[in-house]
Amino acid sequence: MGLTVNIGKTKVVAFSKRKMKTNPKILWNGEELEVVDTYTYLGVIFHRNGHFSTAKSHFTSKAAAASAIVIGIFFLYCSPIWGLSLEEDQLEQPQCQFWKRLLRLPKSTPGYVVRLEIGSQHTSLLMVKATLRLICKILQEDDNTLLAQCLKWQLRWEPRISSAKRSWAKQLKKWLNLTEDGYLLSQPYDQLKNVFPEQTQLIIGKLTTFLLNKDTLLMTDSAWTPDYSKIKTHATTEKYLLQDPALPAAQTLAQTRVNLHRIVYKDKVAPLQDRAACPWCSLGKSSLNHYLFECNSLIDPRKSLQSNLSPNSHSQDFTHLYNNNNNNSNFCNAIFAFWSTAFSKLPKQSPQLPQSI
Ligand SMILES: [Zn+2]
Repeated sequence: MGLTVNIGKTKVVAFSKRKMKTNPKILWNGEELEVVDTYTYLGVIFHRNGHFSTAKSHFTSKAAAASAIVIGIFFLYCSPIWGLSLEEDQLEQPQCQFWKRLLRLPKSTPGYVVRLEIGSQHTSLLMVKATLRLICKILQEDDNTLLAQCLKWQLRWEPRISSAKRSWAKQLKKWLNLTEDGYLLSQPYDQLKNVFPEQTQLIIGKLTTFLLNKDTLLMTDSAWTPDYSKIKTHATTEKYLLQDPALPAAQTLAQTRVNLHRIVYKDKVAPLQDRAACPWCSLGKSSLNHYLFECNSLIDPRKSLQSNLSPNSHSQDFTHLYNNNNNNSNFCNAIFAFWSTAFSKLPKQSPQLPQSI
């Protein structure tokens, strides 16, 4: 309806692990659309295998754009219709998994740590935003349009339907009740027309704060990543991610900061949290502070690390080291150089830890 498609400019990417033997035939108004392997959208190359190999070369901007596009276009497509019924965890999963894979963080890294590190918004917040915008749009329309009628009857029937699964309005109310705004939906439809658009920005602001506070509280109470709250001092994207680091450098610093289970570098693993003996000296503990400050087998990489840091930051604790060098634009590369030299001394992969954690 009213959608004009430029056939010459419209391409199809069929996402699949392996290349299909024959391309699917997709027609628009009887004309065949060209099936291609890659497509560049807003500067990000989408490959049919679903990997962002080109996007990875310049880490932050491209990866963040790819994440936003994937979440925005594929995942949130029509989310006001189907997304409200999902639980928060289900909604947040795709974005968290994307970042965990990209930064090689352990699978068990909590979602709140991933979001706080990246400074990314909750997917559920984007979904509620899209839903509220849709409602405002419908409220502006004539009462007799199909969409206005649907909304009106959804709201009218909401109190009478007990199961949230069968009521879209009930699902929406559940989300708005997080900020105690669910009552708004119970107002007469004509009144809602005036009140709802005024309240939308306020609700989004409140929900943003609510979700951020929830993540922050989970972080400070976390027994899983107890040291993370000491190096997460601002609720914004960590500075090193904004300095457009190379991906391997971002990966090693992110893993070091999260300090959970293990550090991986290429195909080698070093355990963390005292899970096994130090793979370098086989005597010391397998902890971040042992590797960075104590291990006798890692004297050379340590020297090069300290030569890159400010003179007053030779502390014996990663938390202090990070906080002292928070503004040092070379810190990410210095940590990367430490790990790459350290791992080059490790003959083969540590057998105690499978890489899947
Ligand atoms: Zn050691």
